Amino acid sequence: RGHVRFEDVRFGYEPGRDILKGIDLEIAPGSTLAVVGPSGAGKSTLARLMYRFYDLTGGRITIDDQDIAQVTQASLRAAIGIVPQDTVLFNDTIGYNIAYGREGAGQPEIERAAQGAAIAGFIERQTDGYATRVGERGLKLSGGEKQRVAIARTLLKNPPVLILDEATSALDSRTEADILDTLEAIERDRTTIVIAHRLSTVVDADQIVVLDAGRIAERGSHAELLRHR
Ligand code: ADP
Ligand code: ADP
Repeated sequence: RGHVRFEDVRFGYEPGRDILKGIDLEIAPGSTLAVVGPSGAGKSTLARLMYRFYDLTGGRITIDDQDIAQVTQASLRAAIGIVPQDTVLFNDTIGYNIAYGREGAGQPEIERAAQGAAIAGFIERQTDGYATRVGERGLKLSGGEKQRVAIARTLLKNPPVLILDEATSALDSRTEADILDTLEAIERDRTTIVIAHRLSTVVDADQIVVLDAGRIAERGSHAELLRHR
């Protein structure tokens, strides 16, 4: 589950002006890929293509050997969870925000489901305890807490592929590192794609690609990329 392949993926928002110019990637099930590079390189576009926001100009993307162009929108949404940079929470409880959109009856059931999932520990850290705060309103949370809630909401959906599109980039670097470390510890079996500005935040990724003007300029582990500098 979660075997992702990009084969010569090309895409442009306008005809004749490709933003992604032939991307080849293979992400082993359960591994972490980090995509870094300067602003405007095409990182978010790459993420949006996986969700079939737009049709490719060329090439193909497969998840578990299925061409995403051939699957239903519903199964694609089940396969991929995306956490964006700026999460807007409902002015409702943490539990409601986490469980929003999940199958289930009333709020108590949903909150129990959210608590029962492995994600409770994820929230627990640095929020004085999920159990005591699950009824607290989302608007009162700090930026880091909001992003934890957003990640927890996506984890509850249990997608084989999780994409963090600059999900922690707006946070201070300690909070960012803490969230990524926690995620790494509890999500060992899930394929994860982390899009980030800084190479220093994705030290533990199995594979890092540096995107530059729509091409992969470099790829390797963190140590390998540092060696090339
Ligand atoms: P990154 O995430 O690396 O900052 P993006 O994927 O957001 O890069 O953007 C890559 C390029 O595509 C940029 O030149 C950007 O201006 C352009 N772009 C992004 N979104 C759109 C859009 N919806 N319509 C037209 N051009 C876009
Ligand atoms: P810091 O250690 O301060 O986090 P980084 O090494 O992460 O700095 O790099 C700073 C900036 O340069 C970031 O925006 C990052 O995306 C970009 N960057 C890092 N490595 C490369 C690279 N090989 N090519 C292009 N841009 C890069």
